[in-house]
Amino acid sequence: MSTAPLLSVVMPIYNEQEALPLTVERLRPILDGLGIDYEVVGVDDGSRDATPVLMQKIRQDWPEFRIVRFARNSGHQAALTAGIHRALGDYVVSIDADLQDPPEKIPEMLELAREQGLDVVYGVRGDRGTDTAFKRRTAGAYYWLMRKLVGKRMPNQAGDFRLLSRNAVDALKQLPEHQPVYRLLVPWLGFPSGEVVYVREERVAGGTHYPLSKMVRLALDSITNFSAAPLRLATYLGLVSFVVCIGLAIHATVAYALGSTVPGWSSLFIGMLFLGGVQLICVGLLGEYVGRIYSAVQARPTYFVGYDSAEDDERGRGR
Ligand code: UDP
Ligand code: MG
Repeated sequence: MSTAPLLSVVMPIYNEQEALPLTVERLRPILDGLGIDYEVVGVDDGSRDATPVLMQKIRQDWPEFRIVRFARNSGHQAALTAGIHRALGDYVVSIDADLQDPPEKIPEMLELAREQGLDVVYGVRGDRGTDTAFKRRTAGAYYWLMRKLVGKRMPNQAGDFRLLSRNAVDALKQLPEHQPVYRLLVPWLGFPSGEVVYVREERVAGGTHYPLSKMVRLALDSITNFSAAPLRLATYLGLVSFVVCIGLAIHATVAYALGSTVPGWSSLFIGMLFLGGVQLICVGLLGEYVGRIYSAVQARPTYFVGYDSAEDDERGRGR
């Protein structure tokens, strides 16, 4: 590319009053040092602590820091969506606000993309030594399952620290997803991509905003986003239970014919429990998909922007 590009850095921020000042302190010199125009799109995902005030303060002496504020907490992926959709850059980097993704890698990502003409550069977590054992295990299981569902195109351990070209961003914007899971959608696009390995650092301050419930939701969204395989699983479970039940029926008939009394209760009970369990699993699976179809039909936006500092800027310019 001949002319200097514009870089957008998208940062979902939720209750990060402790971490945000430290993040800004480390991020700003790096972006200033790039020698190109940039903007930071800070998406406040309905924070309930001092984050909104803090963001206003940051913006006062850092005009490149743009604020998009949600009316309420809508989730990390929704915040990413808002940021990516509103970013103006030729390149868009998404990064966490807690310094777990080292901003020092941004210049490297940008260079790789520009040199090799890549549309996507994944930040790949080389070392998760600072994550808890629980987080590492669940993450390991998650990426294993996702790669089974989406295929090997999805790089292992690539989270939401990544660079996208304008091309890739425009492609993402065309997707009508209601619960987008970008770490799956981006590889699915199939654009030329590269990787930058980084060490997942410790969260700089505060605690995780991904409790187990949000992790489960992300996992369910990820699975249903990309595969109807679980529905097929229901069919297999049903088939297996059918075969087992036929076997039991034959066994009971033979035992009856031979005159030995069928012991009865235990086998009956086990069979009932088994069938009941399988049925509940299948109904649950159907429910997951029906629920998603329902919300897709409702077509409600996933987030509402209460405030966007760019609109202030527009007014300031007298437009
Ligand atoms: N985040 C968000 N909305 C949420 C939860 C988290 O915007 O509902 C942001 C959070 O501020 C951070 C990023 O998403 O910038 C990742 O969250 P967190 O660090 O809590 O997750 P973890 O790194 O523990 O998986
Ligand atoms: Mg984090």
